[in-house]
Amino acid sequence: MSAGRILSASGYQVTVFDKGFRCGGRYATRRIDGFSFDHGTPYFKPSQIPEDLKDILEKPYLRSWPYDLSEKGEDALVSMPAMRSFPEELGRGLDVRQGVEIEKLSFSDDVFIAETADTSSGPYDAVLLTAPGPQTADLIEGLLPLGEDLLQAARKVTYAPQFSVLIGYDFLRDAPAIIHNPTPKIAKIVNQAKKPDRPIKSAFVVFCAPEWSFENLDRPKDEVAQIILKDLQNILFEHSVAGDGLDNPVYLAVHSWRYCRIETSAGLTPEAQIDTRSALAVAGDWIMLPDTHGALSSGINAARQIEIKLSNRS
Ligand SMILES: Cc1cc2nc3c(=O)[nH]c(=O)nc-3n(C[C@H](O)[C@H](O)[C@H](O)COP(=O)(O)OP(=O)(O)OC[C@H]3O[C@@H](n4cnc5c(N)ncnc54)[C@H](O)[C@@H]3O)c2cc1C
Repeated sequence: MSAGRILSASGYQVTVFDKGFRCGGRYATRRIDGFSFDHGTPYFKPSQIPEDLKDILEKPYLRSWPYDLSEKGEDALVSMPAMRSFPEELGRGLDVRQGVEIEKLSFSDDVFIAETADTSSGPYDAVLLTAPGPQTADLIEGLLPLGEDLLQAARKVTYAPQFSVLIGYDFLRDAPAIIHNPTPKIAKIVNQAKKPDRPIKSAFVVFCAPEWSFENLDRPKDEVAQIILKDLQNILFEHSVAGDGLDNPVYLAVHSWRYCRIETSAGLTPEAQIDTRSALAVAGDWIMLPDTHGALSSGINAARQIEIKLSNRS
């Protein structure tokens, strides 16, 4: 979306394909049974917004959330009314097509064609791939020898998986907004009801520790849910939250993130984000910096590289 904004502002016609039915990728929100669970990125920081996008800090869909954070003493930033609203708003005005998985790319006469299972679209002068590294690599493979260096870089990338456990109650009970590292199993508990503009019902997203998630990847999700629910009850009890009813949530689900946080990034400089022979480029948090800042800034860098390549052509 950050790349799309830059290219669109420069006058290019941009089409975004996303295989997800809802916009957002790992900026994910599940709205169900009157709950709103941000089970991907729970919040981010103002310093993670690159200079070229700083104007969005003034937008009403972003709100400072005075909890946590960091040595820098920054408040968290959350988007309204859900975390996925942030990428949705970034993409406003672009031609964004949800629920469309690109399965294959082809290239001839300096233009690309994108194919899904049942249709093709294009021609496109440039293509920017922002799927996770392994999925991007699969798409580049079909274009070889184009994008050989990009393929090698994308194949290098590794991710740590992680469970998010979503727990909702039909009552509201006061509890801390964020609890960090309460047990070796749990990296963070985020109280959804304390976030601005969220439903006023007790709802928690428990972010499991990456090591524990990895060790338990093959465990049935029901078992993971029950283990984490028990831990949540104990932790809330330690934080003086009344315990009755906490064993009986009305919503309990596990989301398993196969590609959660980057372990090994591709380490690509902005100039190396584009193919030497064509306007095929890559972006995402796997390029250099493994977080929101990395995703946004790599998109901006890729857009600049595409602009240079296309202007050299004309
Ligand atoms: C549980 C969790 C907690 C996190 N916490 C934080 C945090 O506190 N702070 C922080 O900064 N970051 C955090 N992150 C990381 C942050 O979410 C990512 O760095 C960021 O969202 C990456 O954005 P991206 O656009 O690179 O990738 P993604 O958000 O993964 O987007 C990739 C997109 O590609 C689409 N796609 C894939 N293949 C295809 C295809 N073939 N055709 C069409 N579309 C395709 C997917 O549908 C998806 O929308 C967290 C992530 C998770 C999962």
